[in-house]
Amino acid sequence: MRLSQYFLPLLKETPSEAQIVSHRYMLRAGMIKQQAAGIYSWLPLGLRALDNVEKIVADELEKAGCVRVLMPTLQPTELWKESGRYDALGKEMLRFKDRADRELLYSPTCEEMIIDIFRSYVKSYKALPLNLYQINWKFRDEVRPRFGVMRGREFLMKDGYSFHTTLDDAKREYSKMYDVYHNIFKRLGLTAIAVSADSGAIGGNLSHEFQVLAETGESQVYYDQRFDDIRDGKLSLSGEEMRGLYAAADELHVPEKCPIPKENLREARGIEVGHIFLLGRKYTDAMGIDVTGPEGAVRVEMGTYGIGVSRLVAAIIEASHDDNGIIWPESVAPFRVGLINLRPGDVNCEEACNLIYNTLTAKEVPILYDDTDERPGGKFASMDLIGTPWQIIVGPKGLERNVVELKSRKTGEKQEVSVESALAKLLG
Ligand code: ATP
Ligand code: MG
Repeated sequence: MRLSQYFLPLLKETPSEAQIVSHRYMLRAGMIKQQAAGIYSWLPLGLRALDNVEKIVADELEKAGCVRVLMPTLQPTELWKESGRYDALGKEMLRFKDRADRELLYSPTCEEMIIDIFRSYVKSYKALPLNLYQINWKFRDEVRPRFGVMRGREFLMKDGYSFHTTLDDAKREYSKMYDVYHNIFKRLGLTAIAVSADSGAIGGNLSHEFQVLAETGESQVYYDQRFDDIRDGKLSLSGEEMRGLYAAADELHVPEKCPIPKENLREARGIEVGHIFLLGRKYTDAMGIDVTGPEGAVRVEMGTYGIGVSRLVAAIIEASHDDNGIIWPESVAPFRVGLINLRPGDVNCEEACNLIYNTLTAKEVPILYDDTDERPGGKFASMDLIGTPWQIIVGPKGLERNVVELKSRKTGEKQEVSVESALAKLLG
């Protein structure tokens, strides 16, 4: 993409309404625009990051055998009356009427509708287990929408639902999803701590929230310090080993009962980026969902698995930035390479830039080419702000010696290399 043709409305000033760094940078980098409290437009740069997160989430789920569907955001209220949640959800659920005076709601989550799909088609135990998911917008009329897309009212969520004939099988799937979630967050460049969370009315201990540590997080978490070692790359554990490490949400952590010594316990703020939950028969009992088994009717057991896709974009920025801007992990970066032409109009610079741009574009490397007339200082600052993992800086002086500058956004390290070796490095 050539910057001269792109839509990248960068802000020079730090917006005063933004209290946390991800919100500030998302506004300054022209990623999002607020349209109403907790409701945002995703501008081109933001949308690229959001799409990348979505793709990674979907890819890992597909690998794990989950099957994607898409349910409507607007739903009739009958199903919610059937499950008993129509009243339970209160003001968080946005309700309205269509022209025929039929009541509709904007989906805050989708257990009821996925169960409706399930019961319409699945009649036999032979079709189970089944794990269906969608990635779609949700609306919750939060009391305090804040921190940009971190706590929005409209937000993009991956919501998954699994169906089983036995509780043991639902537990097996739960453990599998636990591991899949760690893989997803790892690919997003994050270390998420899976903390035991309150499983509410269902009892037991089978609910985990996946928390990314950040000072601005809204949750308080307690965890085994080995999670820090995993994050810092000093320790590598399998999913099963990780599941054995202590981690608990605020409401479940009782100091006197904590199974690990105090010196190994860490306390920090976290951002909840995902939540898995063994539902059991909570909804299938309420809605009477059975399949036929070899010896008669079997009540269906369920699990439910959520990921905050739009919140993740902000969480990644909270976890990875510096004073100059965002530092994207390569997997999520809207553009992997930022190409800076220090002297547009100069024949040599144009030629070298075109070669780099065309070669990388042909190989489908996402590249943003700053071909504008802005001063070099401004170009450097913009590229740092939007956080492309690699920058190639092309200037007339370097070209006299046949070199361009290759800069790593993460380390700040700059190397003078030939155009060929810059390309080889980025394509290698
Ligand atoms: P929270 O405790 O943050 O309000 P929740 O427990 O109500 O979240 P879930 O119903 O578990 O949320 O939803 C699944 C995921 O969706 C959460 O783990 C979170 O990442 C994301 N999410 C929930 N509410 C919001 C919101 N208002 N804005 C952005 N993402 C959200
Ligand atoms: Mg939750």
